[in-house]
Amino acid sequence: MLYRIPEVIDALVIGSNVARRARLAVHVPPSIVPAIRRDKFRRLLRYVNARSPFYRRRFKELGIDVRGVRTPEDLGGFFTTAQDLREHPVEDFLCGRPELGFETTGTTSRTPKRVYFSRHEAADMGRDGALGLYNLGLRPDDRVVDAFDYSFWNAPFTLRASLDRVGCFHVTAAKIPPAEFYDRVQPYGFNVLFVEPSWLVVLTEIARVRGTWPVKFFYVGGENMSEQTRRYVEATWNTRVYMSYGQTETFGQIGTECPAQHGYHIDDFNLYCEIVDRGEDGYGELVYSTLSREVMPLVRYRSTDVTAFVDEPCTCTLKVTRRIAKIRGRSDEMVNCGMGNLSPWFFEQLLDDLPGITRDWQVGVLRSGNHDTIEFRVELLDAGAGDAVAAAITDRVKERIPDSWRNYQLKLFEFAFTFARPGALRTGRKLRRLVDERLTAWE
Ligand SMILES: [Zn+2]
Repeated sequence: MLYRIPEVIDALVIGSNVARRARLAVHVPPSIVPAIRRDKFRRLLRYVNARSPFYRRRFKELGIDVRGVRTPEDLGGFFTTAQDLREHPVEDFLCGRPELGFETTGTTSRTPKRVYFSRHEAADMGRDGALGLYNLGLRPDDRVVDAFDYSFWNAPFTLRASLDRVGCFHVTAAKIPPAEFYDRVQPYGFNVLFVEPSWLVVLTEIARVRGTWPVKFFYVGGENMSEQTRRYVEATWNTRVYMSYGQTETFGQIGTECPAQHGYHIDDFNLYCEIVDRGEDGYGELVYSTLSREVMPLVRYRSTDVTAFVDEPCTCTLKVTRRIAKIRGRSDEMVNCGMGNLSPWFFEQLLDDLPGITRDWQVGVLRSGNHDTIEFRVELLDAGAGDAVAAAITDRVKERIPDSWRNYQLKLFEFAFTFARPGALRTGRKLRRLVDERLTAWE
């Protein structure tokens, strides 16, 4: 019955009042959260075993009796993967009637993953999302605009569900060119903007020339943002940039930053998060089970995102929920090679504030003969500046990553550079930062 506690408190005490919810949230004793999670997890297993053809079949094949399972760890090596979602019809996962559908192609495969929800589930996400936004200072008299991509993507719906609770004035601009956005939003007086990181950088470049306006905060989602880029945007607008972290598989919501800007508070009441295959530094792959969904619940879903739990407790409104660190990269984008153990994050330190290139870049790991080659693919703002940019990148490796520089001097790997015009590298919504192309060379 523990699983019902949040719902009952919600229905009887809190209702739809976000401010009241925020006042009460700080008094929730952290000790009850793991017990609620475990109770909901056991209920989830019985539910999917009874209703989802995929899970019933898999549990049977693996000899798993869900009545004996108490925690996700008890399932051992059992996981749900992105490949499972791609290879099986979405109907195999459904446990209830779907009302909203989204899809994501990701950066590694053209085959989409489809994920379905009910409107009731969307409203529940909005209730919890609204608390996160209230914690950042969003209030009913704020004026909100979003420039999210609407095509098959759920971020705009997640935002809408939260704003329904907070009650702000809201206009949907959708993902139009930043220059057009700049002109058209002027009459509205928007002070809170929900946007994608790379799009915000272009808007900021325009605003540096044509002027900024007072902004309470920017809220970004859909891709990672480096700290250098965040500081650049914050300094230009004299405001704060908050990040959210989610996946289509979670209705866009796994965690949100708080005013501390130090990791994402995860949705601990609705997701059972684990970090598996952890290294010595505590970083590993985030795996989650959805605890409150009825249409398409997922058990131990491998996010492929690499993160760690943040140990220090937070002091904000969301303090009862744990935090995870900023995503370092995808587990399928981590590459071991002559330069070291690489992740996209590794190259952000080198490239994100490098003058003369755009913020779209990619690093390829190639094999030529016996050596790895690290190929930097960058877009030049000045087509004639290739040599200078290559020299600047090499200098930064020497200054900022001494271990890799030592390997370079030992000739464990080589550098290569390819240059493109602005806009040439990005072909979809996300650009894969780091690609290991050595496998094809070994064939
Ligand atoms: Zn916090």
